[in-house]
Amino acid sequence: MNNTLTDSFKRKHTYLRISLTERCNLRCTYCMPAEGIPLLPKSHIMAYDEIYTIAKTFVDNGVTKIRLTGGEPLIRKDIPVILEKLASLKVEVAITTNGITIDRHLDTLKKYNIRNINVSLDTLSEGKFKEITRRNQFQKVYQNIILLVENGFNVKINAVLIKDFNEDEIIDFIEMTKELPISFRFIEFMPFDGNKWDLKKMVSYAEIMKKVTSHFSEETVERLQDAENDTSKNYRIKGFKGRFAIISSVTNPFCDSCNRLRLTADGKLKNCLFSATESDILTSLRAGKSIEPIIQKAVLGKFKVRGGMDTLKKLQEPKLHSKNRSMIAIGG
Ligand code: SF4
Repeated sequence: MNNTLTDSFKRKHTYLRISLTERCNLRCTYCMPAEGIPLLPKSHIMAYDEIYTIAKTFVDNGVTKIRLTGGEPLIRKDIPVILEKLASLKVEVAITTNGITIDRHLDTLKKYNIRNINVSLDTLSEGKFKEITRRNQFQKVYQNIILLVENGFNVKINAVLIKDFNEDEIIDFIEMTKELPISFRFIEFMPFDGNKWDLKKMVSYAEIMKKVTSHFSEETVERLQDAENDTSKNYRIKGFKGRFAIISSVTNPFCDSCNRLRLTADGKLKNCLFSATESDILTSLRAGKSIEPIIQKAVLGKFKVRGGMDTLKKLQEPKLHSKNRSMIAIGG
């Protein structure tokens, strides 16, 4: 690994998240405004060979993991070609999906050895699912999660916890890990453009653990070793096949060990999930210019914590977080 992907805090960036599209077949309230977002013209979106060329540049400079996100990555018609091309690189490829069309892509995922699948599911209630996603697809998503587990995929489920919405399901979610070898991850609600974020709506790491330890006795809640660069704090209820985890970007940010960079569907590099500044890679690529200097400059310009919102006070400053894109246009 050379220094192109090492920032001024000596963090080596080995993990690239690529958003393949801004389009989605759900309308989750914490991800995009009700009216949706103005979609970019198709010509502004990276073509599959451009995704491959940019990804190869990152892999040549030390990236070892690529996660495909969206919007909903699996709605791209050329997803089989994208997976085929990325599978030719020496890199682990993973996907984050809303799970609706997984069943249609199972063979392709197996063919290109994509085993790590994160599925977004914020509730186990069909009614609440419709409320938060504005679509009626709960059964499809749930069945596809079971299908993934039955087919031996490594499944993580991501749930954004929101006060007075799904906070009361924490124990039910964890009970899912009794028989299912999955990792259920609770995500602290984060501020992005258009998602009407408010700290009062967020369920914190401490609040989650209070609910867990008041339901399960302390001695049955096992703290697991987190992986290097892990965004989540991992636990298991003794005797359960699966585990649960908490991603606490708001109350316990984990930026010290950050190894993540993000590429948006229109070829802009974000050096942090919360960074309002972006570096245009696609235009230079299309002009036949080298993209490495742009990447290196972007990485060196990375803030230590949350794109510069290093305090909760700053994170609550709408002027600061509304300069960023909405989550749908970043891909988490
Ligand atoms: S907030 Fe930014 S710096 Fe911190 S872990 Fe997330 S991407 Fe990395």
